Amino acid sequence: MKAVRFTNWKTFPELKEIDRPTPGPGEVLLKVAGAGACHSDVAIFQDYDADFPVAHFLGPEYTLGHENSGWIEELGEGVTGLKKGDAYLIYGPIGCGHCRSCSRGQDTYCDNVAEMPYMGMGLGRDGGMAEYIVAPARNLVPLGDADPVEAAPLADAGLTPYHAIKTSMRQLEGGGKFALVIGLGGLGQLGVQMLKALTGATVIATDMKADAMAMAERNGAITVEGGPDQAAKIRELTGGRGVDAVFDFVGVKPTVEVAQQVVARRGRITVVGIAGGKVEWDFYTNPYEAELTNTYWGTIEDLYDVADLYRAGLIKPEVTVYPMDKALDAYQDLVDGKVSGRAVVAPHS
Ligand SMILES: [Zn+2]
Ligand SMILES: [Zn+2]
Repeated sequence: MKAVRFTNWKTFPELKEIDRPTPGPGEVLLKVAGAGACHSDVAIFQDYDADFPVAHFLGPEYTLGHENSGWIEELGEGVTGLKKGDAYLIYGPIGCGHCRSCSRGQDTYCDNVAEMPYMGMGLGRDGGMAEYIVAPARNLVPLGDADPVEAAPLADAGLTPYHAIKTSMRQLEGGGKFALVIGLGGLGQLGVQMLKALTGATVIATDMKADAMAMAERNGAITVEGGPDQAAKIRELTGGRGVDAVFDFVGVKPTVEVAQQVVARRGRITVVGIAGGKVEWDFYTNPYEAELTNTYWGTIEDLYDVADLYRAGLIKPEVTVYPMDKALDAYQDLVDGKVSGRAVVAPHS
């Protein structure tokens, strides 16, 4: 079968012919419906090297693609209650499965991560940028009759903002609240839709790209351009009080600084983007009781909620579909900043 392989650090991936995998005990073979191309993949093949802190989990060679969906093709030993042909979203992270974090479906924070050979599918273990993928049965979230190709980005670009929003609900419940989304790529756009679906907050959004801002406006956000008076403009929209929950999907120093400048007292800033921006903090930098935190991906249970939001028509990923033969173009377009919404490789469409 064809697969997009991460072959070496600082090397653009290759489209290769490899053997179709076989599911082991407790695993399932799925025919891939969709595999989303994520900026984290670009970081892996373009930016990281063997000295990167988690390089031992992420080193080559394997098939990329950590936000995947598919149709069940074959059940491994001991797997029951699943049926060939049914469509599923695939929860990408794989933890030990039995620690405190994994027991609540939060494999991303697995307590035994140091002993794991990989972080997840497409992250050290073969992912979904291929005709078939093997996944643990525990990681499958049912899609019913919803379109699995369009749904694929929900496994990361949907799950990550969902988890960030859910953990900021204390700041967003009640009337007259404000949320700010910084960075309107795949995650940010779904973040805007989820904030509209799940909260009564006024949603403000910002990005460098005009078409991304236009898309957010269509989904109900008020947009504010970048520039020196950006923070002042955002504060003005809140009547001077500030933003109750900020979601920074970029995470560079200037974006986190904007977040600090606009957050309200008792508000919360969640840095989701992994750009690693360093900012100042002392007693007087942030308003009283304003929280600054990070988050990484989400839980299996969260992914059930995200699938339900999608099946109810409350969220819809904007996707550009690429056939398997053009899978490398999906990454090239992502590198070149040409993708609005999410690039999804659909090997069987
Ligand atoms: Zn990702
Ligand atoms: Zn664990």
